Amino acid sequence: MDIIKTENLIYEYKRRDEEGNIEGIDRAIDNVSLEVKEGDFISILGANGSGKSTFAKHLNAILVPTEGTVWVDGMDSKDEEKLLSIRQTAGMVFQNPDNQIIGQVVEEDVAFGPENMGIPTEQLRERVDEALKTLGMMEYSKKSPNRLSGGQKQRVSIAGVLAMHPKCIVLDEPTAMLDPAGRKEVIRALRALNEVEGITIILITHYMEETIYSDKIFVMNKGKIAMEGTPREIFKHVEELEGYKLEIPKITLLAHELKKKGIDIPECVLSDKELAEALKKLI
Ligand code: ADP
Ligand code: MG
Repeated sequence: MDIIKTENLIYEYKRRDEEGNIEGIDRAIDNVSLEVKEGDFISILGANGSGKSTFAKHLNAILVPTEGTVWVDGMDSKDEEKLLSIRQTAGMVFQNPDNQIIGQVVEEDVAFGPENMGIPTEQLRERVDEALKTLGMMEYSKKSPNRLSGGQKQRVSIAGVLAMHPKCIVLDEPTAMLDPAGRKEVIRALRALNEVEGITIILITHYMEETIYSDKIFVMNKGKIAMEGTPREIFKHVEELEGYKLEIPKITLLAHELKKKGIDIPECVLSDKELAEALKKLI
């Protein structure tokens, strides 16, 4: 079954004047239909303002559609009785780890979500330790989150969501505020969660290079799905991607330029290792 399915999803923000009268309507999501299979690693790639966050907020019923339908593990997001169940199925991680961490001590912070779900104390310990171990943060369990690096803080946020045992984790630009080392650390953790724990990952990002491990990429532009496919299918359309204001990874650009100059390398190169292999074959 699809863990996430949207059908003709439309979302409009209403602009109001000082008296609260509706002044205009901005369509942020424009007729999006997509399906995500359970266990997949999905990336949603798009420039600023393309509608990524508005879309993400539909996956855990923070927003409900203006038109169309969103199902999370078969539950209609408009069904208020399913709200808790939906939020437990699809956990959310946001951009700024400082806004998400509330505990004074790492383990306390990770316990917060499952505790609020009513998980009994004896199971809580187990869940927190398991989540911290999975994210490689066990040795920090008694530390203050304030002392952690950005990448570590974000891993604590992810552990907090994981401790609620979601089937799916939606991350809205989780690396946008991190340095390159922190970004790598978070992406590595997400790949492990997907491959080892089988959790569906929906990674929202504007960094193309973070999407190369995905099973599938959806490119958003002006509230619509402009492209969808595997990284290899998507990355070969360099000019189109540039048209969506995406920054193309240097290695992809280089390979693209070489190809245009008539050098016989594969149509799509995702990593420097691949490019090196391709060039070696020519010598
Ligand atoms: P992204 O996350 O890709 O940057 P958003 O979903 O935040 O995109 O925004 C999509 C569009 O919706 C943008 O044009 C933005 O200005 C508009 N928008 C976002 N949030 C609001 C809001 N709270 N009120 C009005 N318009 C909004
Ligand atoms: Mg956003």
